[in-house]
Amino acid sequence: MKQLNRSFFNYFLSFVIFTFTIASCTKSKDEETNTTYTKETPDLTKLPFGGKGIYKILNRKAGDASPDLLSLWLCGLPADGAGADNAADWTNPDGTWDYTKKPQVEGNVIWVSEFKITLDGNGNRILTGNGLPNHPTGVFPIVQGSTAWDYDKNPNVISAQPLSFTIPAIPTEAETKSCVGFGPAGYSLTGSAIYHGASTLGTDAAAHEMLDRFGGHTDGTERYHYHYPTQDHQDHIHKHSSGHSALMGYMLDGFGIYGPYGEKGELLKSADLDECHGHKHPVMWDGKMVDIYHYHWTYDFPYNIGCYKGTPQ
Ligand SMILES: [Zn+2]
Ligand SMILES: [Zn+2]
Repeated sequence: MKQLNRSFFNYFLSFVIFTFTIASCTKSKDEETNTTYTKETPDLTKLPFGGKGIYKILNRKAGDASPDLLSLWLCGLPADGAGADNAADWTNPDGTWDYTKKPQVEGNVIWVSEFKITLDGNGNRILTGNGLPNHPTGVFPIVQGSTAWDYDKNPNVISAQPLSFTIPAIPTEAETKSCVGFGPAGYSLTGSAIYHGASTLGTDAAAHEMLDRFGGHTDGTERYHYHYPTQDHQDHIHKHSSGHSALMGYMLDGFGIYGPYGEKGELLKSADLDECHGHKHPVMWDGKMVDIYHYHWTYDFPYNIGCYKGTPQ
């Protein structure tokens, strides 16, 4: 009997909370827009290639002295770049690319992920872990004879990569912006690294390289990392229903990176953001609304970061 009462109480409480949540959401939406909310879904069939036209891959070492809108500002390119470079089968006649036609690295490999984010009370956020994601990945090295292997012979495995990383809990914008180097540009809340949008060949990584359904793959460092904000990656962290996207990770300067939806629940494109691929407005930050700069993942190039607005650690 005692058990029954308790279950009933829990059920009742959930019902009350659920009802309240629905009601408050609906109300605030009506007041704000006075329209019926319909969620925008992305068109993934016509995406711009990074490195072509206005979507530039800039290289500071090669003389590009500053970042630019819609672009990725790299610090330099490695001399020994390798990777897939044939995107012909999912390139449209107008020169855009079709995500829905691009093969994926299949599989469901389970990892034992360790990842912890703590605030030390002295202004620091400390990220520790083993770099492995808390979701399944595709099979790497890419399986010989698979469709993905036809395009990308990525021979690398995924292995644990201990990380211990300290960033400011409340980062500030630097006087000058910084270029983005190869390797981790940030960490996803899944426990794995976020890489910028270029391959070591200096092309658009998401458009050319074979990724799994979470938008990730591995490289010569054996580190699993993301290049694309797939629905699976987003939903795994926080399923979006309305309004601004939830936090998806932290970049090396300490600023957060959120999913692709803006303040009014609109789907953001790179054109809506500044040259570092972010903007400033109040967002949920450690449990409260704070007016702070932040990055967004978008479905179009450069996908995550264009340059560092703060000081990369
Ligand atoms: Zn990569
Ligand atoms: Zn925002």
